[in-house]
Amino acid sequence: MSITTNLLEIKKNLPLNIELVAVSKTKPILFIEEAYNAGQRIFGENKIQEMTDKYNKLPKDIQWHMIGHLQSNKIKYMAHYVDLIHGVDSIKKLKEINKQGKKHNRIINCLLQAKIATEETKFGLSFIEIEQILNSEIIKNLEFVNIKGLMGMASYTSDNNQLEQEFSLLKIFFNKLNNNLDIPSVEMKILSMGMSGDYNIAIKNGSNMVRIGSAIFGSRT
Ligand SMILES: *Cc1c(COP(=O)(O)O)cnc(C)c1O
Repeated sequence: MSITTNLLEIKKNLPLNIELVAVSKTKPILFIEEAYNAGQRIFGENKIQEMTDKYNKLPKDIQWHMIGHLQSNKIKYMAHYVDLIHGVDSIKKLKEINKQGKKHNRIINCLLQAKIATEETKFGLSFIEIEQILNSEIIKNLEFVNIKGLMGMASYTSDNNQLEQEFSLLKIFFNKLNNNLDIPSVEMKILSMGMSGDYNIAIKNGSNMVRIGSAIFGSRT
């Protein structure tokens, strides 16, 4: 199967309100160009350096999403172009994003990463920590940060019940936040959940943005 075929097949079955992030990490420019020529405009990467390199070489109407674990000291390298940062997991990083946004005079869109998986290896904030951040005074002073929603990664499991449970808990929390918000720089619009193996379950449980890599570009070695 070609990238074009994979992409069109996935898009054909994706509900219209679901945003597709094509996860191109580790894949060459040529692969991204093929997806671009098939109409894809949102790409996700997990390393800032690799993403910036690709940004420099590819058409400027691509929207680049940083989906990986963030390192504060590297945020500056993508601040001038990144479209959405999915994996924000501390006030410290929000402050650094704000600082870099200010330098470039652009508001940077972010998602807070919630920990929904049971595995120790998955990063993210607990629901309580997310509420603490949203209720903090600091958040009101971050003029160059726009929090657009939440991101979550489910456990690596074939147990569909567990996946449903993890996704639906995050959706319930997302809705709850939505009903209790009144900070100008925070809106709960985007709920980023679902990857190649579990995106159909994620969509059934309230996701409106899926991050799909291997099902489009083939497996990573
Ligand atoms: C790699 C990655 C994906 C895509 O994974 P696939 O299983 O290849 O679809 C999605 N989200 C995050 C955060 C990732 O790191």
